[in-house]
Amino acid sequence: MCRGCRAGSGVTEVGENPVILKRPHPSVHRLEYVVRIDLHTHSTASDGTDTPADLVRKAAAAGLDVIALTDHDTTRGHAEALSVLPAGLTLVPGAELSCRLDGVSMHMLAYLFDPEEPALLAERELVRDDRVPRAKSMIAKLNALGVPITWEQVARIAGEGSVGRPHIATALVELGVVPSVNDAFTQEWLADGGRAYVEKHETNPFDALRLIKNAGGVAVFAHPAATKRGRTVPESAIADLAEAGLDGIEVDHMDHDPDTRARLRGLARELGLLVTGSSDYHGSRKTCVLGEFMTDPEVYGEITRRATGAFPVPGTGGA
Ligand code: AMP
Ligand code: ZN
Ligand code: FE
Ligand code: FE
Repeated sequence: MCRGCRAGSGVTEVGENPVILKRPHPSVHRLEYVVRIDLHTHSTASDGTDTPADLVRKAAAAGLDVIALTDHDTTRGHAEALSVLPAGLTLVPGAELSCRLDGVSMHMLAYLFDPEEPALLAERELVRDDRVPRAKSMIAKLNALGVPITWEQVARIAGEGSVGRPHIATALVELGVVPSVNDAFTQEWLADGGRAYVEKHETNPFDALRLIKNAGGVAVFAHPAATKRGRTVPESAIADLAEAGLDGIEVDHMDHDPDTRARLRGLARELGLLVTGSSDYHGSRKTCVLGEFMTDPEVYGEITRRATGAFPVPGTGGA
């Protein structure tokens, strides 16, 4: 059995169904499960490039059994995803909430909350609405830096999606300013604190926890140690969040190297937090693929047991 991974016995339980686990990957400690669960993806409802319908079709084609749709600060993509959800694929409705603690931006994954619950709904709207003037301020900064980017261009790229830096980054690629979306996330351009960066309204994560719990949801701190995205919160803050009701942390994520994942797994064990893994798929805007990292079926079972606001929806093979 691998020390970095919790699997090894080969058998676990999801609800009443025994599930056989394949052997963990020996070199990178990536787990392969028979029930394939990816709990963090984005669609065109935020800054992914696949429509919700295409996303669930691709997820089924990729052999996934469970996918969570977690667009930034919105549940707008859920209805479309559900309307075409293929048989054999289960959708976990969710969202990724933009938060900030002591000046550090962080993301909170919220699963299976009641999407109509007014307080959480109002907070999502607040964050989402503030993205528009914020994007316009970033465009103004870019104009001042001599980049001929316009709001019309960014709005066209964002379409119906909650507008964010990846849309602006795509515009910079179109204009030939940077070669790739990733290259726009530097201090020269859009990275946290960068020349064209502007903050948006972000929720205090302790408030976010209260809102998510109050809406019957389950809260998982997304990529808590993704240092290449900017500053991250200290472990003491994760402990405080755990005390305040945080359910889990996303450990297996492309922005965590193997040492970081091992450290976070230890921290989760210490704090009694669930450990999730997911791709954070954004379509062609990022290099990751669906199912690149996945969540232990046992953990998924626990998430569904804790939720009271909504339930996973099994696909029926819609049109
Ligand atoms: P926003 O919510 O508008 O501040 O944009 C944040 C999003 O930008 C994240 O969800 C990522 O998808 C993306 N992002 C942040 N940092 C990076 C990075 N270093 N490279 C590529 N994408 C990034
Ligand atoms: Zn994103
Ligand atoms: Fe995120
Ligand atoms: Fe994400």
